[in-house]
Amino acid sequence: MTAARPTQAQEIVRRLSDYEARFAALKQQGHKLDMTRGKPSNEQLDLANGLTTVLSAEDYRAADGTDARNYGGLDGLPELKAIFAELFETAPANVIVGGASSLTMMHDAVVRGLLHGVPGSHDDGGDGPWSKGKIKFLCPTPGYDRHFSICQNHGIEMLPVGLDAEGPDVASIEKLVATDASIKGMWCVPKYSNPTGQTYSAEVVGRLAAMKTAAPDFRLFWDNAYAVHDLFGDTDPLVEIISACAKAGHENRPIVFASTSKISFAGAGVAALASSPANVADAKRHLSMQTIGPDKLNQLRHVRFFKSYAGIRAHMQRHAALLRPKFEAVTRVFERELGQSGVASWTEPRGGYFVSLDTLDGCASDIVALANEAGVKLTPAGATFPYGKDPRNRNIRIAPTLPPASQVETAMEVVALCVLLASARKLRG
Ligand code: PLP
Repeated sequence: MTAARPTQAQEIVRRLSDYEARFAALKQQGHKLDMTRGKPSNEQLDLANGLTTVLSAEDYRAADGTDARNYGGLDGLPELKAIFAELFETAPANVIVGGASSLTMMHDAVVRGLLHGVPGSHDDGGDGPWSKGKIKFLCPTPGYDRHFSICQNHGIEMLPVGLDAEGPDVASIEKLVATDASIKGMWCVPKYSNPTGQTYSAEVVGRLAAMKTAAPDFRLFWDNAYAVHDLFGDTDPLVEIISACAKAGHENRPIVFASTSKISFAGAGVAALASSPANVADAKRHLSMQTIGPDKLNQLRHVRFFKSYAGIRAHMQRHAALLRPKFEAVTRVFERELGQSGVASWTEPRGGYFVSLDTLDGCASDIVALANEAGVKLTPAGATFPYGKDPRNRNIRIAPTLPPASQVETAMEVVALCVLLASARKLRG
């Protein structure tokens, strides 16, 4: 909760002219810094350059003799399915390894639900294709803008739900899904959430797996994009959702997604999903009408380069070494410049790609505009909320991964001054 105490507020207002002067000087410095999208840096991408040469002209056969140069293998090479199965903590038979983008797989899973319904929906008294009626998805906020775009693009009404350190507000979710059968899905980034960085607690995961839903065809879209993206030595524990749901009698509830976009190459990696046997069979049936098979050469490259799941974990430690100083720079500057101010709070994630900054209500869009004036591009205010509208206009997503650490430091100094200036103007009234 961000709220300045009266003495803090007076102090900020008292310094308004100082902030204005510093801001005018800052604008003269001609910064050109971009803190918008969560992309890997060149140094991170360089770590995987070996992928481009790891296959020789003679090396194109998978372990079972499959010729990776030819059509076929709808659900991916068995050895890569086995690696993803370890990441998902499930059986290889529950895994489909696809093309380069997990977002595409999520999009397709939503569209399949809309056009055809999901497995079991008729048997369980569901209503066939979701698109027969007006449907809704639960959206923990702040969240990932592209999840929300999928809903908006397909006319799915989004219901925002709050997030705290334990994960989404599961008590509100239980109430909503218990009575509203038009709620067919929920977006979840369960580990190192985008943008808030928290990992769902065991209790939250258990309750999401066990809750009673009025819709028999309700699905959790479990986007585990940051499953192995630890920044520090340890990893946040996350209860595995497929077996948690199965144990609770809701075997078909979760569809889990991940990709190597932020492990190997962004947009040129491999993506995968995992789910129940029925969901996997359904996805494969539809996939067989979309493609004759994925890019197995790229899959084989990933197998050769990483060798195993342990190989991926080791590789991610090299990413962490590059990313840690950038996240530490954000925390250091915010702590120094804003720590005593009472006008901002921010997350200190243990993994993932983002820091989430909360300002005084009504200030986020002004801060983004001020930062832009001073040469620092930030993700538009509201982008982390359904329909691009943050009802309190206070959340800003910071993406520190792409620029060098020194630039992150400078950009955060600019942002901190913009926070102070916008807050002082607001508090003065
Ligand atoms: N899911 C989340 C939560 C993300 O933050 C991102 C990228 O920023 C993606 C998915 C994109 O994944 P992919 O590149 O596999 O489509």
